[in-house]
Amino acid sequence: MNVRVRFAPSPTGFLHIGGARTALFNWLYARHTGGTFILRIEDTDTARNTQEAVDVILHGMRWLGLDWDEGPTTPDAKGPSKGDYGPYFQSQRGDLYKKRVQELKDKGFAYDHEGAVKFKMRRTPILIPDIVVGDVERKLTDREEADPDFVIVRSDGQPVFHFVNVVDDLEMKVTHVIRGEDHLSNTSKHIAMFQAFGVEPPKYGHIPLILNPLDGSKMSKRDKGSSLKFYMDEGFVPEAVVNYLCLLGWSPKDNREKMPLDEIVKLFDVPNILRHNAKFDLDKLHWLDGEYIREMAPERFRELGIEAFKHAKFPLEQFPAAYVAAAVDTCRGKVKNFGELPAYAGFYFNEDVTIDPALIEKEFTAEAKGRLQKLRDAFAQLTEFTAPNLELTLKKIAGELGIKAGPLVHPTRMACTGAGAGPSLYHLLEVLGKDRVLKRIDRVLGM
Ligand code: GLU
Repeated sequence: MNVRVRFAPSPTGFLHIGGARTALFNWLYARHTGGTFILRIEDTDTARNTQEAVDVILHGMRWLGLDWDEGPTTPDAKGPSKGDYGPYFQSQRGDLYKKRVQELKDKGFAYDHEGAVKFKMRRTPILIPDIVVGDVERKLTDREEADPDFVIVRSDGQPVFHFVNVVDDLEMKVTHVIRGEDHLSNTSKHIAMFQAFGVEPPKYGHIPLILNPLDGSKMSKRDKGSSLKFYMDEGFVPEAVVNYLCLLGWSPKDNREKMPLDEIVKLFDVPNILRHNAKFDLDKLHWLDGEYIREMAPERFRELGIEAFKHAKFPLEQFPAAYVAAAVDTCRGKVKNFGELPAYAGFYFNEDVTIDPALIEKEFTAEAKGRLQKLRDAFAQLTEFTAPNLELTLKKIAGELGIKAGPLVHPTRMACTGAGAGPSLYHLLEVLGKDRVLKRIDRVLGM
């Protein structure tokens, strides 16, 4: 069977990590089986839907590296889509829904009621053969017993979630619906509608919830780390977040935690999705994040480092690409999280480094300035402004002054970066280049 799965978010302006995990599990299943991963935007709630809200989803998916085979290519519903079953925005599928409502009416499964359209629900219990949680039999609740039928088109003409969700899964030939457990209670309605259309329902698999570790309640919008945006803003490594989300409800059955994604793709399967709720553990994610940075290929470090500066609104475009790359490279092995980078090495892209005035008085005494002047003049003589040359020069001047390197290293670093710690001094000076270094030292000497 050619597996077709989908992620079907409603654009609310927020991508919950539970949603991101649902997307990931569907993506993993598609990649594991060589199937198709569809992204469908469930934007029938027109009041809440904005292009920005869709963008949050597309951006989040791209950040996680979850590429879709069918779906929109732009957050704008008018943009092109890929795949043969489009449009992939529900807001554009109105005609299709109308046809399907008519079909249900013709078959005697739907009827007009006070301006709305209602679906004639099956009175007998429905078995949901859930491929994750196992068989679930859903009987009608007492309230439903009195009137089990439900609205599929509101009196204002808007088709409701249950109906469009089913029509789209049917039209898009979805074979497996993997979604959050909160939808389990809807599934009997969905199965009944498939049966009314005379079509075999897809296989349903409901993934257990993600719980807040503090009180065991469902992770809600207010909880720290519940939004994917949090991880994007805090400079987490996307691969670490993906790896972490894989472990939230799935396990390779050995004790491994840090695992390359291609291996997870090989091992991932629906039967080994865990049936119990997953506890969110930000500490573990921090740990994974640190591991990913530590073992990261230099090119990837550079890429994500550049992202981190851009995210913090540093004007990187005003600097030559080679300068930006060299600057980021000096931070490798020095930071535990990309979110630290802007504070750690922002001096590269900030021509007016600020130095705490109190420190200026303390660090740049008349004596210290005299030494720094000597070093500055020696630096000015260098034709090759390279780390080894800078180190030799500094040590030579220290020798002439009869002092250790420290009392020269520290003020130089302070003058050029505004901070007492940072990347290796000689390397950062080389990257800054002679003009900047002399200018920054002169500025302090003139204070
Ligand atoms: N739009 C629904 C949601 O965001 C989709 C549910 C489903 O996957 O079927 O919860």
